[in-house]
Amino acid sequence: MFRTAIAGSLPKPAWLAETQKLWPQWKAQGAELDAAKLDATLLWIKTQEDAGLDTIGDGEQSRQHFVHGFLEQVEGIDFEHKVEMGIRNDRYKAQVPQVVGPLKLKGRVHEAEARFLRAHTQRKIKFTLPGPMTIVDTVADRHYGDRVKLAMAFAELLNQEALALQADGVDIIQFDEPAFNVYMEDAATWGVQALERAVQGLTCTTAVHICYGYGIDANNQWKKTLGQQWRQYEQVFPALAASSIQQVSLECIHSQVPPELMGLLKGKDVMVGVIDVASDVIETPEEVADTIGRALQFVPHRHLIACTNCGLAPMSREVAQAKLRALGLGARLASQRLAGAATA
Ligand code: ZN
Repeated sequence: MFRTAIAGSLPKPAWLAETQKLWPQWKAQGAELDAAKLDATLLWIKTQEDAGLDTIGDGEQSRQHFVHGFLEQVEGIDFEHKVEMGIRNDRYKAQVPQVVGPLKLKGRVHEAEARFLRAHTQRKIKFTLPGPMTIVDTVADRHYGDRVKLAMAFAELLNQEALALQADGVDIIQFDEPAFNVYMEDAATWGVQALERAVQGLTCTTAVHICYGYGIDANNQWKKTLGQQWRQYEQVFPALAASSIQQVSLECIHSQVPPELMGLLKGKDVMVGVIDVASDVIETPEEVADTIGRALQFVPHRHLIACTNCGLAPMSREVAQAKLRALGLGARLASQRLAGAATA
């Protein structure tokens, strides 16, 4: 049976936050908001289990955005005075907080939702954190004056939280690094080094997710400029193959990534994107199984995890639910096909 997982985020229910937005406003405050976040987490745990997924996430229901959720618990960051900055090499503008002093964690970041997740499913649980390089690319630095120094400072804080998440019972800790597909040379050098700092001392499974972004317009326009073959992974995968990170999540379905690039990740678990997050069209189980079949040419069965291309946060809840079902059914169909081929 193929393992299945989601990349990370899932849509927030309309009673929790604004829908189909990347930086949605919460609909409650204080203790009521805290409770609502966990209610939404429970809803998605059940939905993932019903879809037959064997690795379960919290769907990032407790954070407004995958990067800023972490930053909110970091001392030395000014959230009051956000500034507009071009991010991912100016692909789009975002209102970002500023680094104004030495960085330090105020306390635990994701304790409540990690323990809640552990308490409510028997299956393996995965928890996502933003990667150091992507954080550096999503804040304005007014203090460190050097991207590498800043990345290492964040990596140290991420490591503290990751060790605590492991103690909470998390099985897989994943770092999200969409910036790796933008600054490939830096990613292969200090980007991977910062990741190594972030996973130092962890004995649980470690993972990195590298994508072409959420299915938002700015990303869809950018992808059109990348040509017939998207070869960004080619520069970063050899460095990751040589690293201690155990799982790599990548885009596959409906992307222009040459599938043979997966072959650069020998020895790693490969989370193959078989669900498109840039389209509301629901994949059929056959389509999912076909994508898994293509990946099997380059990734051995025991190393292949069927996954989504990226997070599903900006999608509608109904579409996301249907896509999770397609993921589960498609992985089962691919397993049947493989078993059939083995006995034929
Ligand atoms: Zn992604």
